[in-house]
Amino acid sequence: MNDIFSKNYPLLITGVRVDKRPADIFIDEQGMIGAIGKNLKKQYAGEAEFIIDGDGAIALPGLVNTHTHAAMTLLRGYADDMILQDWLSQKIWPLEAHLTGDDVYWGTRLACLEMIKTGTTAFNDMYFFMEDAARAVAEMGIKAVLCHGFIDFGDPGKRESECRATERFVSHIRSLNNPRIKAAAGPHAPYTVSKEGLRWCAEFSKEQEIGIHIHVSETEKEVSDSVARNGKRPVAVLDECGILTPRTVAAHCCWLDEAECRLFAQRGVYASHNPTSNMKLATNRAMPYHWLRAAGAHVTLGTDGCSSNNNLDMFKEMKAASLLQKFFWNDPTLLPAPEALQMATFAGSRALAFGTGTLAAGAPADIVLVATRTACNTPLHNDTSNLVYSCNGGAVQTTICNGRVLMLEREVADEQEILSGAAKAAEDLVKRST
Ligand SMILES: [Zn+2]
Repeated sequence: MNDIFSKNYPLLITGVRVDKRPADIFIDEQGMIGAIGKNLKKQYAGEAEFIIDGDGAIALPGLVNTHTHAAMTLLRGYADDMILQDWLSQKIWPLEAHLTGDDVYWGTRLACLEMIKTGTTAFNDMYFFMEDAARAVAEMGIKAVLCHGFIDFGDPGKRESECRATERFVSHIRSLNNPRIKAAAGPHAPYTVSKEGLRWCAEFSKEQEIGIHIHVSETEKEVSDSVARNGKRPVAVLDECGILTPRTVAAHCCWLDEAECRLFAQRGVYASHNPTSNMKLATNRAMPYHWLRAAGAHVTLGTDGCSSNNNLDMFKEMKAASLLQKFFWNDPTLLPAPEALQMATFAGSRALAFGTGTLAAGAPADIVLVATRTACNTPLHNDTSNLVYSCNGGAVQTTICNGRVLMLEREVADEQEILSGAAKAAEDLVKRST
């Protein structure tokens, strides 16, 4: 028998639940959804090389994680329960100073494995040694937008080297010619990148027609420091430098004011809500979802890195988002389950320009099957309610990205090798740094 993980095959998923009704889904060899609907079996069973029995499963578009630092899986559980600045300066940065390209490769493979096992088919990543991250993503079969985290701290020499590093990385990704992997410009944040650096990133991304990935107004201090230094809030600085575009994903956005939410809508910026990380590091304010929504701005969902979450499970993130919004803004009607699911699928897919984020003929076949004969899905009064509030990523049975099966009945190729390689890389990293 052919190995279902080894390449794209014409596939037929039969009797799966789509929008609460049974349907068959045919996936062509190019990785697109060829047809979706009732009774396709007769028509496509001959053409399909594999048939996946979807009975007892819900089909969903693959989830999209719009803000993470994938290789930080190696730092999972290394330091928790600390003040943000102490956590960074005493624990995270000293360890990261010893990172190698190989560490990033193993950490990113582990992240991809975890995402595949929890139903995520695309992610937006910012870190270092990104060519090694790209190598991992290419092997794992998932989709990603990758960027080199650009930090100059106002130093012109450092800025030059960051510009060159960004150019080199973008041309490397182009040379891979892999439709699943894209590059973005990654100015880390308005407080770590000079205005000149921000302007360069904005120009470069425009010229190269690539995305921008940035952290925005995560803490109150960033906002007050910006006002003290520039006489302007961070979002105004970003707008002045041309960073706010429809190709931009802005992570966190906890401290946006109402006018900034309207500006995000006008500029077409995609906000990435990162509720678990924000709660863990106590940013003391939740992203103002209600203002963003009222303004018509795009809102997506991300886990942030594994040292501040500590997992990459987008099912848990949907629940955290919905609960944090209700709790912080004191409104139980805010961010209802269907909107959380839209953020994690449709909106995320648009943000990364990876297709429609829907299950429809002609769309890329990024599909996850979620088991219904499980405690978390029994009874099934309301699929979306269970998916957002009751399930975690462990309920995902099968993950398909660009038509390739990456997980079948919870089996992923090379899982044990990835777990032991990543565990060893993490152990060696800690040894080297102490
Ligand atoms: Zn981050």
